[in-house]
Amino acid sequence: MSLISKLWKLDPFECASGYLGNLPGNELYLHNFIDGQFSEQHPPEKWLDSHNPGPARYWPRHLRVVNRAVEAASRVFPLWSKSSRQERSDVLLRIASIIQEKRDTFAVWESLDQGKTLLRARVEVDRAISNFRYFATYILHEEGSVRFVDGQPSTLTYEHRSPVGVFALISPWNMPLYLLTWKIAPCIAFGCTGVAKPSEVTSITSYLLGEVFRQAKLPPGVMNIIFGDGPGTGSALVKSPRVRGVSFTGGTKTGIRIRQDTVEDIGKHLSLELGGKNPTLIFDDVDFAEAVPLAATAAFENNGQICLCGSRIYVHADIYERFCSEFVEYVQKHYRCGDTVGPVVSKVHYDKIRTYLLQAQTENVTFLLSEVPTKTSGNGYWITPTVLSNVDDQSIIQREEIFGPVVTISVFGTEEEAIELANDNPNGLASILLTKDVSRMRRVAERIDAGLVWVNCWLVRELGTAFGGMKASGTGREGGAHSRDVFTNLRTIHVR
Ligand code: NDP
Repeated sequence: MSLISKLWKLDPFECASGYLGNLPGNELYLHNFIDGQFSEQHPPEKWLDSHNPGPARYWPRHLRVVNRAVEAASRVFPLWSKSSRQERSDVLLRIASIIQEKRDTFAVWESLDQGKTLLRARVEVDRAISNFRYFATYILHEEGSVRFVDGQPSTLTYEHRSPVGVFALISPWNMPLYLLTWKIAPCIAFGCTGVAKPSEVTSITSYLLGEVFRQAKLPPGVMNIIFGDGPGTGSALVKSPRVRGVSFTGGTKTGIRIRQDTVEDIGKHLSLELGGKNPTLIFDDVDFAEAVPLAATAAFENNGQICLCGSRIYVHADIYERFCSEFVEYVQKHYRCGDTVGPVVSKVHYDKIRTYLLQAQTENVTFLLSEVPTKTSGNGYWITPTVLSNVDDQSIIQREEIFGPVVTISVFGTEEEAIELANDNPNGLASILLTKDVSRMRRVAERIDAGLVWVNCWLVRELGTAFGGMKASGTGREGGAHSRDVFTNLRTIHVR
């Protein structure tokens, strides 16, 4: 039985981790999905290693293949770009239904591969399904713009869009399936073809996605999935002259690299969704019973490994002491390693977070909760949610994205100061504002440098609204018509 058939059938969590425990050599060979097939024959010496974050040891292995995938996507583009909206919508709905049927399988593998809890994994699988359903129906109800220019005779002016071509779709390891499908769904919907590259660190659900495409009868070549490292595979993909657009989600440094790598190819569409260091502003009129859990969820969901996490909390001076104490108590009670908190994704990431905490120690930062973790015992990469205070505004702890279960709490006096502190950061992805004062909601929200502002809520998403960041958090927006802008070329036609 092929590997894909085996993985496809392992449902419950225990069964999947049991299977991993008995793997010969602890190795899983993940084959690239190109031109509608898993390519089974590769020379073994070219495989790359990866690993999983938890106690179950296994090493997915990948192979670098870029050209064959780009070729397959280029070959089918002329046909796919002319397919009807109905055809594209039907195939996307079939994909959504198959993932829905295999929801548990996807959730189990996502949880094992990334370290997230099963509960969190299920939410993300559901969101992946919504990505396909949303764009499947969006294209059936699209509106265009038509105008008449006065004169004798008058002229009809209208906007016409056509698919751009082959896309490189590159995603990070923190929400592997959800973020990749956020790119794949609109790419297919708007008539483009693509080569998707998940992070090599978390590739199993993307591997399963290839099987979904096969079963949904997505024409071969329309979407190819390749595994491999960023600097090798990802970079070669981005630079390929036949790739006409790049939709990338990941770190700011990688985003800059991609921009440099494509600068000469000026017509290549680029959408870059990058990192964040998001502020949570808590004013003195909040209800503690709501504000504390909300700020904690925003800080620690998925172990703080979500680009939208609120990792810098600022609290009004009048409620600062009380907030700190209730927040710490709440986090201690609700976030327990091995239960509601999983391991962080990898050894490399564990070491990175630990380095920031060691730095905090040298700066005499106060650890309100937890301490610098000791070296790992080989039993997974666990970091207890950590709450810091007395952090200097200019410290790297406060300025750089740690992307782990670490939050800082600082104080502000006035509304003006709160806005200044929130904006005093190179990033501008998201922000959270907690207050009951309706006029303040608008006053503050409209001045924060962030692509997304959540007032008294967090992580609420309507897929038609713009998603993306300001400043170092990226260029461009995705979602609804914004995704259409990424994946289509626009021409304005004037007809006398
Ligand atoms: P990276 O930027 O390291 O990697 C992202 C993806 O890019 C991976 O698939 C990686 O491959 C690939 N890659 C790396 N180098 C290159 C290159 N030179 N050319 C092309 N592709 C490359 O980010 P992480 O995976 O570490 O993810 C964490 C980051 O992602 C955080 O900064 C987080 O904020 C951000 N993020 C942003 C979101 C947003 O919507 N704005 C959402 C989620 C995360 P590989 O891993 O295989 O090496």
